[in-house]
Amino acid sequence: MEQGKQDILRKHGYIITGKESGVKLCHWVGRKLVDGRACYKEMFYGIECHRCMQMSPCIDICNQKCLFCWRYQDMGDTVKKVEFDEPKDIAERCIAGQRKLVTGFRGDHRVSEEMWQEARDPNQVAISLAGEPTMYPYLGELIKEFSKRGMTTFLVTNGTFPNILKELSHLPTQLYVTLPAPNERIYRQLCVPNSSQQWDKIMETLELLPSIDTRTVVRHTLVADWNIGWEKEYSELISRADPDLIEAKGYVFVGDSRRRMNLSNMPSHQTVKEFARKEGELLGLELLKEKADSRVVLLGEKHFELKVKG
Ligand code: SF4
Ligand code: SF4
Repeated sequence: MEQGKQDILRKHGYIITGKESGVKLCHWVGRKLVDGRACYKEMFYGIECHRCMQMSPCIDICNQKCLFCWRYQDMGDTVKKVEFDEPKDIAERCIAGQRKLVTGFRGDHRVSEEMWQEARDPNQVAISLAGEPTMYPYLGELIKEFSKRGMTTFLVTNGTFPNILKELSHLPTQLYVTLPAPNERIYRQLCVPNSSQQWDKIMETLELLPSIDTRTVVRHTLVADWNIGWEKEYSELISRADPDLIEAKGYVFVGDSRRRMNLSNMPSHQTVKEFARKEGELLGLELLKEKADSRVVLLGEKHFELKVKG
């Protein structure tokens, strides 16, 4: 990655851990340490959010330019020649980076020593920070490096590389695929893909999901005036994927997305919930959990065991 980009990312709080990889403290880690408030994934899945590490093996590369993306977006594209980092180096350097990132919380009278020590020893990884992780060629090996260290892994992909998912040598604890639009027209406008094939690739990924032997989640980022509604179309697409869970999450006006979106594009929790209710009804799924301040609703089959195990 060029020096200029590295400098910008560092200014945004990233620790660059190699040629293309990086780690950044999720704001919820600090919240949990300081005032005990956790992210919705702790409430839904029982992860310990102060021990979660948010990282990416290819921080600067993505094949979409989603208008709602909160990350710095001057990313490279698929044709660029990139030198990737080794999985073991990424894992070790990200853990070391996370330790450095939590250093400043020690001594804060609101943070207990015990929790701070735990935060230095992450046991959960969100492979989702920036860039599209399936564009990293050694993704399965990287997941394995984290698993070897006793960490659970949540992989979030835009779903445009079904072949990579099909061939992953090691599967994440939970695999998220984003379904950001009910049809190709809206997808192209909202996610600005860099090739005309990508919608078809997402469809391929949806069809592949039932054969992937791990927990699968279809995720929506719901943006007011853009992709809310069309519950019937969404549910038809989702029924191809038959995921274990669906997360319907409202867009939040933060980070770089503020350059492309307006405050009015943030839906209320009620809007998200109403969308999820209709989608759930069409798919025969229940509303399992919700967290109003994160504008998120979880759908799935009644009695589904939500807690993840390492
Ligand atoms: S699961 Fe996501 S929101 Fe929660 S602490 Fe990890 S990166 Fe942050
Ligand atoms: S696919 Fe993800 S990283 Fe890429 S632009 Fe969209 S939200 Fe950002």
